[in-house]
Parts: sequence; C-alpha cells; structure tokens
Amino acid sequence: MAEEKEQDITDLLHVDGGNASFANAFHLRFNDALEVRYKRIYARRDRRYVRALLLVLLISYVLYGACDWYLLGGGVAPVWAIRYFVGTPILALLLFFSKTRWVERFLQVFIVAGIFTLVITTLLMVSLVGGESVHLYLSSLLAMIMGGLTATRIQFSYAAFTASLYMLFASIVLLPMAQINALIMYYLLLDFVAVLLCLLAVFTYEKMIRREFLQKILIQRKNHELRKANEKLKTLVDNDALTNIANRRYFDQILEQEWRRAKRRGYSLAMLMVDIDYFKAFNDSLGHLEGDRCIQQVAQGLEALVRRPGDLVARYGGEEFAIILPALNVDEAEKLAQAVCGAIQGLGIAHPNSSVARVVTVSVGAAAIVPTTGFFKRDLIAMADEALYLAKSQGRNRTARVIVPQ
Ligand code: GH3
Ligand code: MG
Ligand code: MG
Repeated sequence: MAEEKEQDITDLLHVDGGNASFANAFHLRFNDALEVRYKRIYARRDRRYVRALLLVLLISYVLYGACDWYLLGGGVAPVWAIRYFVGTPILALLLFFSKTRWVERFLQVFIVAGIFTLVITTLLMVSLVGGESVHLYLSSLLAMIMGGLTATRIQFSYAAFTASLYMLFASIVLLPMAQINALIMYYLLLDFVAVLLCLLAVFTYEKMIRREFLQKILIQRKNHELRKANEKLKTLVDNDALTNIANRRYFDQILEQEWRRAKRRGYSLAMLMVDIDYFKAFNDSLGHLEGDRCIQQVAQGLEALVRRPGDLVARYGGEEFAIILPALNVDEAEKLAQAVCGAIQGLGIAHPNSSVARVVTVSVGAAAIVPTTGFFKRDLIAMADEALYLAKSQGRNRTARVIVPQ
C-alpha cells in the first residue's frame, strides 16, 4: 500500500512538465494533471478510512433505535420506519459499495451521500417527534453535521455544498417549527455558526494537506534530479572520455571485486591484454584524429564481442585495452583472444603502414589464475602483459598465453 502511494508520487515527476504549483490563490486547486493525481492518491488513502467510519456510524445509527423506543415509547413506529426502512438500507448500501475501489473515483460524492442520509433522515425524525425529545434529536443533528464536515476528510468544495444544502433543508423543516417552539430557532442559529466554523476548519485542513502534497512532490523531484546527476557523474568517473568504455580506474575497481569473488568461490579469473599493432605508424600516416577514431572503433568492436555478464572491457591506456573474464580458464581465454584478433581485423580499418596486414590488427595476450594464496591480482596483469609481449615478439596480429608457473 505504502509502496503504491510512493509509486504514485514518483509518477508525478512526469506530470505537467515539471511545473507543480497551485492553480488558484486559495491554494485549493492544482493545475489539472496534478489535481487528478492528487485526488486519486487521497481517494485511495481515504477510502478505507471512510469505510471504517461508515461502519461505526451504521452500527450507532441502528443501535440508536433503542433510544427512539425509550424516548418515544408507543409513538416510535414512524421514526423507526425512517431509521430502518430509509436510513439503514442506504447506509448499508454505501458500506457495501465502499468495499470496491471503483468508489474511489466518486469518494467525495459518496461522503456527501453518507452525510445527507444521516442528516435528512434525522431532520425527518425531528419533524415527527414532538415534545422534549426533539431537543435530543436536534443535538444529534448538530453532532452529525459537525462530524460529517470535519471527521470525513471531505474536500472543501463538497463540504461547502453539503453545508449549504443542509442549512436549506434545516431551515425548511425547522423554521415552521420555530414558530411553535422558540428554542428551535436557537438550534438553527447554532447550526449555522457551527457549520461556518466547520467549513473554516475544512478549508484550513485541506490547504495544509495540499501544501504537504506539493512539498512531497518537489522533494521527490529534487531527489530524482540528484539521482540522475549522480548517475551521470558516476558514468563520467568510470568511463573513458574518448571511447566511452570503462576507464582504468573502473577497471582496477572491478578487477579487485572479481579477484575477491573468484578467490571466494575458487574459480579461475582470466584476463586479455589487447594492443593495436603499429599504431604509432597509423598515427604518423593518417594523423591523430584518425587515430582517435580507430581507437574508438576498436573499443566498440571489443565491446560487441565480449558480452557475457560480468565481463569487462576497459581502456587500459593509449591504444591498449584490458578485458576481465571471470570464470574462464586460460584455454577459453585464448579462444576468445583469437576471436578478438579476428573481429578487429574484420572491422577492416585501413592501415597504410602496417607490416602485418593492410588493415588495423591487434595482438592479444591471455592469462588466467585461480586466485589462491601466493598470488596477487597484479600477477594476473603481469602475466597478461607478458603474454602480449610474446604475441608482439612472435610477429603481431596473433595471440599468446602465459600459464601459471608450476
Ligand atoms: P606495437 O605494434 O609494438 O604496439 O607498436 P605501436 O606503434 O602500436 O606502439 P607504440 O607504443 O610505439 O605506440 C603507441 C602509439 O599510440 C603512440 C601514441 O601516440 C599512440 N596513442 C596513444 N594514445 C592515443 C590516443 O588517445 N589517440 C591517438 N590518436 N593515439 C594515441
Ligand atoms: Mg601498439
Ligand atoms: Mg602499446
């Protein structure tokens, strides 16, 4: 439930182009999209509350029949008829429907209907009972309208509508009676003042709730922006500016992580060192800008090839790349190294000045270690480096491997 609410609020990040504010000076309305969401979220929250309230009211309303009988004795029949054949079924029906989420869309109308059922039936009872008992019914009427306007979390506009209509009905029923019993006029005035005070309370409450809602959204938006900025920052920190693949710093971090994991689980950790052949000559003949483009293409080529989750391709420096391959032994790593050689040659980047091919090629060194005591991660780097040196010295555009010394 709480999660749902949070989700709703998070959705608001995208509402109304980031312009969350009040649409009127009274602060009782947001702009349209926000208003819809506000109502939805609060209806969802309030429905259960209104349902519980309705249940308590229904029980009290039914039990109050005993007081009718106590007060009215033999004349109770018409009052009971209103209570049990009009009021109770309507309240029971409202209670029944309050179970469905469908009610959330009309929750305010629903609350108004509940209040009206109570006050209209009680007004009818007032018009039927005479004598001293009428004061008790008028007092409960006052309690009902006050409770109805304040305890139900009704919105101000609906509360104002309910209050006006209530005063109209009360005047129609009570004014003629006031000519016989002057005290009734007093009740009517009391009703009027009480209703005004309640409306003031409803207005203040709603304004406060709406402010809180707005603040929540603004905080959520700020958090969202901060998260985005953090993510961006992290990418900047972890990625290499030229190739947009992992940089040396991130490579070190992941190597440390993978080394520990491999050590814990007792599996092999492999590494490839990839170096572009005769790259100085490439730069010399085509210029550094072309050289940069070539490095980018090679980086993309490597990333396209090494796609297992957990694998990492990083720019190790200059025209050198390092690849971390968890859970691969040296045979498997060398197989991948050969695939790397083939793939980069397959990119077909013309190299006018290479002694091994007409296109850009790479040499790859492969190594793997099962991290046990006596080995450090720098040993893995050193072995992969040594393998690369071997590949270079054996003629370039090839792979070589170095195995763990026995
Ligand atoms: P080998 O086949 O032995 O690897 O020879 P090589 O020429 O590739 O290696 P060497 O280390 O002699 O030269 C590497 C060159 O890579 C030198 C340097 O100018 C170039 N280089 C390093 N980083 C960059 C870069 O970011 N952009 C460009 N355009 N060139 C770079
Ligand atoms: Mg090179
Ligand atoms: Mg180099």
